[in-house]
Amino acid sequence: MTESRPVRVRFAPSPTGMLHIGGARTALFNWAYARSRGGTFLLRIEDTDIERNSEESLQSILDSMRWLGLDWDEGPEADGNYGPYFQSQRVHTYQAAMARGVEEGWLYRCFASAEELEVQREAARAAKTNWRFDPRFRDLSKQDAEARHAAGEKNVLRFRVPEGEEIVIKDHIRGAVAFSSNDMEDWVAVRPNGMPTYNFVCALDDSAMEISHVIRGEEHLVNTPKQVLVYRALGLAEPEYAHVPLILGQDGKKLSKRTGDTALGDYITKGYPVDALFNFLCLLGFSIDDKTDVFTREELLQVFDLKRISKSGAIFDTDKLHWLCGDWIRRMATPSFTAAVLPYLIDADLVSPDASADAELQSLVSVFQERITLFSELPAQAAGMFGELPEYDQKAQKALQAEGVSSVLQAVAKAVDASSWPMEDFSATVKTVAEELGLGMGKVMKPVRAALTGTLGGPELADVVRILGKKRSMKRLQECPSALEDSAPEG
Ligand code: GLU
Repeated sequence: MTESRPVRVRFAPSPTGMLHIGGARTALFNWAYARSRGGTFLLRIEDTDIERNSEESLQSILDSMRWLGLDWDEGPEADGNYGPYFQSQRVHTYQAAMARGVEEGWLYRCFASAEELEVQREAARAAKTNWRFDPRFRDLSKQDAEARHAAGEKNVLRFRVPEGEEIVIKDHIRGAVAFSSNDMEDWVAVRPNGMPTYNFVCALDDSAMEISHVIRGEEHLVNTPKQVLVYRALGLAEPEYAHVPLILGQDGKKLSKRTGDTALGDYITKGYPVDALFNFLCLLGFSIDDKTDVFTREELLQVFDLKRISKSGAIFDTDKLHWLCGDWIRRMATPSFTAAVLPYLIDADLVSPDASADAELQSLVSVFQERITLFSELPAQAAGMFGELPEYDQKAQKALQAEGVSSVLQAVAKAVDASSWPMEDFSATVKTVAEELGLGMGKVMKPVRAALTGTLGGPELADVVRILGKKRSMKRLQECPSALEDSAPEG
């Protein structure tokens, strides 16, 4: 396939819901194709379904795309020479093609009512046969048809599918995909209210916007021959195609709410790192080679090719997504990581709403950077580092209740007090205390950790002590509940 035309690709969402994973991936592949070929990426809003459209959906689609960094060159809020970019504002541009279709006869009026068709469908169901549309108005004379139309009789315009025509779609991913027009019905191109249907306007818009490559989900492959027939009827240049594979859940079935979140917005609010999600979306069908999982957008653009997109369904592997999240978090520079987790710390009331990602906070959160996969996990993990005393979970409480803990903690506190600050080697200090008390390291470390952090897991204690500072570390060792209880005078 030669690439003679300038690359112009489009993402064409209908604003009837949030941007879902599949849509985001389609948008990403279009974007990557444009950006890797010096082309233009358009965003066209297919908002002709007035009942299901909403401004909220539109905004969430735009927000999600911006969040992913998929900037568009033409579209809403980015005017170009091929607008309007909202289909609802393009209706007048379809009139000429409709009139021409009627005039030339490749569109014809069909007066079969919805009820009549339903009766036929029902009969076919009862007879357990496949219903096929009966094109009984195909040969009605144009004069009669126009007279009935003028008299107000309800009708649709159907596309007169030519007989015996082979339609071969040259698909960059699937190769040549052949359809026979004999398997196609005369489809509805214009509804009774005069509004053209998706397949008709899609072809008209793609042509008017000089789209060179239509990159979209495999579920649209069945629509492509219909659109090709529109190009042929109007003598327009056909775009090239790339139908990207379906996204499947881990159960091998089409991805659905049943198996997890399908809206990109859910991943955004749950604190998935954008680079990880971007990387993951790429992997839903695309690969750089057979071993590289992690790559940046720059690396993607250097090698992006439609031919590297696979034909077979792409499995949405949640474990892999989480692995990528952790990997990307570890790659982040601490200031950006801190800025990314700050909203979650504010939400959890761990820092004040006007807190900033300053050096102190950076030093605190950096200790957890290795340990989390989602930004939203940070508050739970790091809660113990905020405030004077932590909350003690059950395991910590148990560790603190063991016999002799109080004297261990007091001894460690004393050693901390006596050491220079910042402490050079916290575990060496603890080791010395353990030796003095004649106890194993474990026996000492466990309650010390419980007292300092309120849990038995978490980062290196040396980091904990450094972040807490001398005063707070000592306070925690001396004032944790068991230490207080044990040291309370008996009476
Ligand atoms: N509005 C259609 C959709 O959201 C666009 C399909 C296409 O890309 O042609 O599925």
